[in-house]
Amino acid sequence: MVLPYKHEPLTDFSKKEYQASFLAGLKTVEGYLGKNYELVIGGKRISTEDKIVSRNPANKAEVIGYVSKANKELAEKAMQVAYETFQTWRKVKPEVRADILFKAAAIVRRRKDEFSALLVKEAGKPWVEADADVAEGIDFMEYYGRQMLNLKNGVEVNSRPGEFNRYEYIPLGVGVVISPWNFAFAIMAGTTVAALVSGNTVLLKPASTTPVVAAKFVEVLEEAGLPAGVLNYVPGSGAEVGDYLVDHPKTRFISFTGSRDVGVRIYERAAKVNPGQIWLKRVIAEMGGKDTIVVDKEADLELAAKSIVASAFGFAGQKCSACSRAVVVEDVYDTVLNRVVELTKELVVGDPANQETFVGPVIDEAAYNKILQYVEIGKEEGKVLVGGKGDNSKGYFVNPTVIADLDPKARVMQEEIFGPVVGFTKAKDFDDALAIANNTEYGLTGAVISNNRAHIEKAREDFHVGNLYINRGCTGAIVGYQPFGGFNMSGTDSKAGGPDYLLLHLQGKSTAESF
Ligand code: GLU
Repeated sequence: MVLPYKHEPLTDFSKKEYQASFLAGLKTVEGYLGKNYELVIGGKRISTEDKIVSRNPANKAEVIGYVSKANKELAEKAMQVAYETFQTWRKVKPEVRADILFKAAAIVRRRKDEFSALLVKEAGKPWVEADADVAEGIDFMEYYGRQMLNLKNGVEVNSRPGEFNRYEYIPLGVGVVISPWNFAFAIMAGTTVAALVSGNTVLLKPASTTPVVAAKFVEVLEEAGLPAGVLNYVPGSGAEVGDYLVDHPKTRFISFTGSRDVGVRIYERAAKVNPGQIWLKRVIAEMGGKDTIVVDKEADLELAAKSIVASAFGFAGQKCSACSRAVVVEDVYDTVLNRVVELTKELVVGDPANQETFVGPVIDEAAYNKILQYVEIGKEEGKVLVGGKGDNSKGYFVNPTVIADLDPKARVMQEEIFGPVVGFTKAKDFDDALAIANNTEYGLTGAVISNNRAHIEKAREDFHVGNLYINRGCTGAIVGYQPFGGFNMSGTDSKAGGPDYLLLHLQGKSTAESF
């Protein structure tokens, strides 16, 4: 009997013993920095000349690992292996597949500090964020394992006399999983195991900035008993390996998390039926966001300010769910803005390996440059009240930035910046605030800070986002509690960590037997 799902608790780092074990995790990771990681195809390690060099974004000189890089030939080889292995894996009992997830979750739980520490080093996550990322990955395994057990007998359908009908779910085939660097463990692991536990085989192409943590996870799944060839690890460039696999006639589905532009490109390419292809590909996409916190005039303004700061600057604003817009009703605009500025000035920016750091680096040079370009645009469009500067001498640090008095249509209020930048706009009243909140092409998360019941109900109906939060910040969805995914250009509204997520990796088969 499997125990009911419960989410993995977050670590309380005010306790000395947890601090000590986190520091031990960092030591473990420091012990294996700079190692080589190979591709894994059909259970075999394959080393290539060409390597991805994974670096610590807080300290460019520190190499996390050298990771072999797939090319088209190796991607083809991996595809053949995954395609063949699908014929056996699809017949492995769902219970066995779920058990592998449960065991993998147990292994990661035992090595939680090490995995979190690796995220500190490879993704630049502060302790609390890294811990939450690993906890979420564990949650995905525990949750999807149980979901598969719920789905394994299909759904009841009616039968007439002389007839016996069944309705079951069968896997799709080979899935290409293209995972992001911002939840380099949770989303990488979650999208991978959702596909696997449903009976599909997978080609995993992790983000090129965070391939080491993915390599470590592949090892965990092997240790948990996943047969060779079910999961193949093929890091490489999007333009070469990504496109090749997305276009491949044997690819049955693509599970992508990343930027809007790459998502749209994948969606378009996947729509083309290539020679030899006998199906229409499915695309599961989680893309960007331009997420808003709306503050009403009848509201707890301290809660509003704290929610904005935490949601805008947690992990340096590099979550799709991050608050990048605050829309505040004019009566309380100055109060909320001033308090946000005060709180932002108190944030500790620096190396995420230090426990007190709240804002670590952004992921790489390209992100650093893009964010600072947007800050320049913001200086033209509004008033920068705090932040606005960066320092890339050692790592890619951008000071948390608040831009005030923006037009709702300003570029920094419309385009995804993916960094520690929040823009403020004044609204005439609550209705106006909601209209502004809805005026982007995205629809991922949003929050409303209000004590007015009618306004809260209006937001429930009209605030068009996949994840709406009331009287709290707009980040931090928990698997199994707040299924996560958005509307419009935020993706395919595929709700990760929700009761219908696995169905996206399955197809319904009806069998009718007459007797
Ligand atoms: N699930 C995360 C949250 O709720 C965000 C995921 C993402 O950034 O892709 O904050």
